[in-house]
Amino acid sequence: MSKSLFIQTIGCQMNVYDSERMAAALRANGYTAALAPEEADLVIVNTCSVRAKSEQKAFSFLGRLQAAKRRRPGMLVGVAGCVAQQEGARLMARAPHVDLVIGTRAVERLVDMVRRAEAGERPVVELDLTAPEGDGAAPEPDPARGAVSRFITIMRGCDNFCSYCVVPHVRGREASRRPEAILDEVRAAVAAGVREITLLGQNVNSYGAKEGLPSFAELMARVNAVEGLARIRFTTSHPKDLTPELIGAFGRLEKLCPHIHLPVQSGSDRLLDQMNRRYTRAHYLDIVSKLRDSCAQIAVTTDMIVGFPGETRADFEATLDLMRQVQFDSLFAFIYSDRPQAPATLLPDKIPFAEKRERLQELLRFQDTITRSRNAALVGTVQEVMAEGVSKRQATRGGGSAPQWTGRTPGNKVVNFTSGDGPGGSGGIRPGRLVPVLIERVLAHSLRGVHVAEAAPARPEREADHDA
Ligand code: SAM
Ligand code: SF4
Repeated sequence: MSKSLFIQTIGCQMNVYDSERMAAALRANGYTAALAPEEADLVIVNTCSVRAKSEQKAFSFLGRLQAAKRRRPGMLVGVAGCVAQQEGARLMARAPHVDLVIGTRAVERLVDMVRRAEAGERPVVELDLTAPEGDGAAPEPDPARGAVSRFITIMRGCDNFCSYCVVPHVRGREASRRPEAILDEVRAAVAAGVREITLLGQNVNSYGAKEGLPSFAELMARVNAVEGLARIRFTTSHPKDLTPELIGAFGRLEKLCPHIHLPVQSGSDRLLDQMNRRYTRAHYLDIVSKLRDSCAQIAVTTDMIVGFPGETRADFEATLDLMRQVQFDSLFAFIYSDRPQAPATLLPDKIPFAEKRERLQELLRFQDTITRSRNAALVGTVQEVMAEGVSKRQATRGGGSAPQWTGRTPGNKVVNFTSGDGPGGSGGIRPGRLVPVLIERVLAHSLRGVHVAEAAPARPEREADHDA
């Protein structure tokens, strides 16, 4: 009899990718998808411990499973990802109903671990960070998902040791996958209908450096040559390692989307030094300027941390000033939290939580005005949007109801659009198709538009108006 599986994913795109690998490996061994965790024979929580909040989410989900397991004692509960690696066997003290602790480099041994648990071994724990993960079986794309966009991890771990960050401690040393394995995975995804690939790593710019593999820009050139693929994206780049070769790739590779996520974390040189980021504000502004010289319409997004230990009002204002100069398209901002093993945890002058929250609100309000003005510049232009699917909400246009599609611009902005061919029509749009969309309106977090017949030349998403 087949058994059922439920995977709960918390955290970044790499966890999404690892969850797909785990699901594919277990599917190949007879597991089918359960609709709810309470009904599953095996539940895996794939966790994140980058911030205290994400860790709390993992424990509250585990709490919910405790009652379910009391009702169905045969259920197996596994914890994977960063919390599993960080807590190890200590997890069982906080959550005694956990049966498997799947470390960040143990995904390839998951099937064997599950077999051992099914045979009665308790707990089953695999935490070796030095275990070679190899390239393993790529997750067979699940055709039922019909996804047109997909993440592919190209490297694991991190050697940068930013002072606030737990990743190097829970994901281990940087290790890149072979280009052949990555390309095989891209081709398999394309054969299953995928049109857009996002290449993932904590610092993709240092791809292959340790192993003597081709550079990241060379890898992208090879991915660019895969027939049937329409778009390439990548994340994340570290500003200290952004090479001229990679900057030049934006003007050269036609499938590479004009968007870079380039986390800066702070606009204060003093804090950048304390964070061990190994670049200055001036260096960051210089590379943004070079990126815009290479590709005028490039969208730049970033991550910011507010309330790092010792952050003064002047440091915070330096961050706002950097935002004013760069004019980011959007950003993720996080309240600093102490993480186990991260050296910043030992720094004095912690900022009270209420103050951190106020700074976060101030920063987000400021960014909203920038995002709105960046997006407003797109109104009246025609953007090439990759249709991802029909949104459930139907837009009403011209008295009739047409399906509302959702997709993204090359600069990664979400666009909801109608087909513009009358009630119920889809104008030949289908998921994965690149369609010209006239941008009509700007909302808080998305754009609204209408599919038009002909692609008119798009105005650049941004003129080079920064004063870097
Ligand atoms: N490798 C990427 C980089 O270098 O920026 C991203 C890594 S991390 C998974 C994603 C983001 O979480 C970071 O860019 C940072 O802004 C945030 N972050 C990491 N540790 C944090 C902490 N202790 N407190 C608050 N935010 C944190
Ligand atoms: Fe963490 Fe820094 Fe590595 Fe990013 S580069 S994962 S922030 S240590």
